[in-house]
Amino acid sequence: MKRKLKAKMHEELQNKQLFEKAKSFAYDYIDGIEEMNVFPDETALKGLDNFDESLPNETGNALHVLEQLNEFGSPGTIAQTGGRYFGFVDGGAVPVSLGVKWLSDVWDQCGGLYMTSPINSKLESVCEQWLVDLFNLPKQTVAGFVSGTSMANLCALAAARYQLLKNMGWDVNEQGLNAAPKIRIIAHKQVHASIKKTLALLGFGLQSIEWIPSDDQGRLLKAGLPELDKTCLVLAQAGNANTGAFDDLEFVCKRANKVGAWVHVDGAFGLWAAASQKLANLTKGIELADSWAVDGHKTLNTPYDSGIVLCRHPKSIRTALAANGEYIIYSDKKDPLMTTPEMSKRSRAIELWATMKYLGKEGIDEMVYTFHARAKQMAEGLQKIGYTLLNDVVFNQVLISTDNEARTKSIIDFVQKSGKLWVGGSTWNGKAVIRISICSWMTDENDINESLKVFESAFTSKTSN
Ligand SMILES: *Cc1c(COP(=O)(O)O)cnc(C)c1O
Repeated sequence: MKRKLKAKMHEELQNKQLFEKAKSFAYDYIDGIEEMNVFPDETALKGLDNFDESLPNETGNALHVLEQLNEFGSPGTIAQTGGRYFGFVDGGAVPVSLGVKWLSDVWDQCGGLYMTSPINSKLESVCEQWLVDLFNLPKQTVAGFVSGTSMANLCALAAARYQLLKNMGWDVNEQGLNAAPKIRIIAHKQVHASIKKTLALLGFGLQSIEWIPSDDQGRLLKAGLPELDKTCLVLAQAGNANTGAFDDLEFVCKRANKVGAWVHVDGAFGLWAAASQKLANLTKGIELADSWAVDGHKTLNTPYDSGIVLCRHPKSIRTALAANGEYIIYSDKKDPLMTTPEMSKRSRAIELWATMKYLGKEGIDEMVYTFHARAKQMAEGLQKIGYTLLNDVVFNQVLISTDNEARTKSIIDFVQKSGKLWVGGSTWNGKAVIRISICSWMTDENDINESLKVFESAFTSKTSN
């Protein structure tokens, strides 16, 4: 590196102007969140063309880089952290989680080992304990902190694959899959897309899955559950991405536990129901499963990049994800890479720790329950306007439609273009539907009322009739 460049970067670190500027842009963004378009308008989207440039030859100016991002990047964002973004199940961000993220971003810790970040290792251990306690899982349960539930599902199913084959006298790490005994995989039609992706990645072709029916809410149809045995991996779900419905975990786990089958629960956003006294009945039997996947970045409102895999069989997950290398230095503390596929990784447990510590059990309960209350409010308001409610609002999801498909689609378009709120479309039983997810701490009664006004205009507008 040329002396000049190094000196320039030292100067940037020392004089702090860059960081002060970033802070002031961030403050403007925070203060403007309620007024900004929930989805960028045409002008803002056009502004993104400013990033179409070839890689510069020469070193530039750090402030200019930041300014470009603010000027054309900020307007190109989704108002994810505001109160009226109801698309997907994305969740906002609790302020303390953003605050600690700023500080820990400056630390830039490699979270793979205790030796590469003692603080991350410590906070992973703390979060592991807290989550086991909060969800009331078996004491020996271990956690891995990954990018999201997709990755958490992958880790859990890799652990299941390892253990079920081991039980049949086969070591998949050594012997591979080609001549392995068959694992029977039982899944219902409404398991999440990420589960299907994971199964394909792990070498279980989708045609080899024993698909069973789902009921009208998207739950595993209990009558469809076949006779299980010790070669079975059963995929259950806590929180259907459309309806928010929960599989009967107690029923599934009891059947599986009798024969030594493995039950994995995909609870990306729904597992948090277990942390709310009034909603905990939805996850009854959760502690009887073998592995769980859940996101911090959805219902708990941590920033992105926060998925958690939980497994009651520490040896299975550690062996399935084992890494060996002469330079890896394991410790007697929690070495995060033992329970994740990654080696180098962001120290993401820091924000999770901060969010849980700040909210406490009561705060988590209140936040999760409030999503449900707001979802109820939304559902009732929409029905009054004349929309058809398609799901039992048991958690935070509201699924609606109108009397015809074209109208439903044009309403989605109307609402999305309003800039006041954002909802997505989906299909349910083969029909176009509107899908609303309430999962930001910022969403209050007024946000719902304002959103209902837009839904009302959309419903009565000529173009949508
Ligand atoms: C969001 C979601 C996933 C995927 O989680 P990511 O964090 O996006 O990887 C899996 N299952 C369900 C039920 C989900 O809602």
